[in-house]
Amino acid sequence: MKVFKFGGASVKDAEGIKNVASIIQKYGEKNLVVVVSATGKTTNALEAVVNAYFKLSGAEAIAAFEIVKENHNKICKDLFENDAHEVFDKLENIYAEVAWQLEEERKETYNYVYDQVVSQGELISSVILSTYLNEVNVKNKWLDVRDVMKTDETYREAVVDQEKTQSLINSVVIPVIKDGIIVTQGFIGSTAQNCTTTLGREGSDYTAAIFANMLNAESQTIWKDVPGVMNGDPRVFDDAVFIDEISFNEAVEMTFYGATVIHPKTIKPLQNKNIPLLVKSFIHPEGKGTTVGGKDKDLPPVRIVKDNQALITLHTKDFSFVEDGVVAQIFSAFFKANLKLNMMQQGAISFEAVVDNIPEKIEKIKLSLQDKFDFVIDENLTILTIRHYTGFDYINKFKNNKTTILEQRRPSTYQGLLA
Ligand code: ADP
Ligand code: ASP
Ligand code: MG
Repeated sequence: MKVFKFGGASVKDAEGIKNVASIIQKYGEKNLVVVVSATGKTTNALEAVVNAYFKLSGAEAIAAFEIVKENHNKICKDLFENDAHEVFDKLENIYAEVAWQLEEERKETYNYVYDQVVSQGELISSVILSTYLNEVNVKNKWLDVRDVMKTDETYREAVVDQEKTQSLINSVVIPVIKDGIIVTQGFIGSTAQNCTTTLGREGSDYTAAIFANMLNAESQTIWKDVPGVMNGDPRVFDDAVFIDEISFNEAVEMTFYGATVIHPKTIKPLQNKNIPLLVKSFIHPEGKGTTVGGKDKDLPPVRIVKDNQALITLHTKDFSFVEDGVVAQIFSAFFKANLKLNMMQQGAISFEAVVDNIPEKIEKIKLSLQDKFDFVIDENLTILTIRHYTGFDYINKFKNNKTTILEQRRPSTYQGLLA
């Protein structure tokens, strides 16, 4: 059995959905789980709905949601060419759930409401895709992934309960895919009390990997708008070249440093069961794509740019050394704020941390450490990471005349913080 994952770009309009259907017809088979993301930029639009609800009013949030509805109704009109098609009733049921949430008084937390609203993007897209596939005779069953993907209650970054999920996948999914196709949602799950959760932005690749792991799939394919994994984001590096095959190890390193082509959490579930990940183009599905889980053969240097970084410099107020106990306190504050250190450096009485610039998380860290440390924060920085760099000339080529503030090198990896 196989797992296919289609991201937002692949299902952004009616043409996209038709193309996805033709890929499933041609390359899929009976034992298949199809995981789909919200269409195009729907997740961002739903985030805007939640922000309107909290910062403006329920009425303004409902108005913002109207745009999301119109976009999807337009896709369905183009796709089904029948305004009375049953798909519209199915979507109305989902829309009603969102409206109900937005009409409620604001008494729940932001993160809770976020998950109840933003999750609907995947429910909508999967209903459209599943209905369309059945229409063109690719018979499939729509699965509400919340019936199997069980999580804790960390809204917006829920952690999957592996045991419960495995057992539900065994009882709910396996009997259906023995000779069938399931269409379901990425990115979302539910708590033991059946409240909807999300797994973190861009999390659909990860959902697909959980299915692949728990179903012992022969492979997982993620269909993207690029030929496969390249040695740099082609939107940033116009000389980026396609890479045929990479190891799990290389993939996990690349994604850890910020190569967004694969969600970082995707690799572990696949590596653990030695399931190859194929990164293929939905624009040219006949292309062979990149195999992740193979060997690293003559890898070119791989470049990764991470923008919107903040450098946090902490100085001890009383001239205490930044010793192990102090470092432990610093790490604990970053851990509690759930802010990953992208680069770090320790001095005698100072500690420098480079993080994604998320002001509310940085504020939380400041509050917990400001008794002991003075803070200096520099914003608008970029981390340039180069794996397998060939020398300084090569590195300097990609600094774009920016100033280097912090630099770290290992034989395999160069990292520079640039201003
Ligand atoms: P999805 O539609 O599944 O959400 P994404 O947009 O998240 O897909 O990922 C595909 C994008 O990843 C590409 O359009 C490309 O701009 C970007 N990307 C970043 N790094 C790389 C890389 N090393 N190789 C290929 N694409 C990359
Ligand atoms: N739709 C979600 C997002 O945009 C999940 C995903 O696309 O993977 O973050
Ligand atoms: Mg994405």
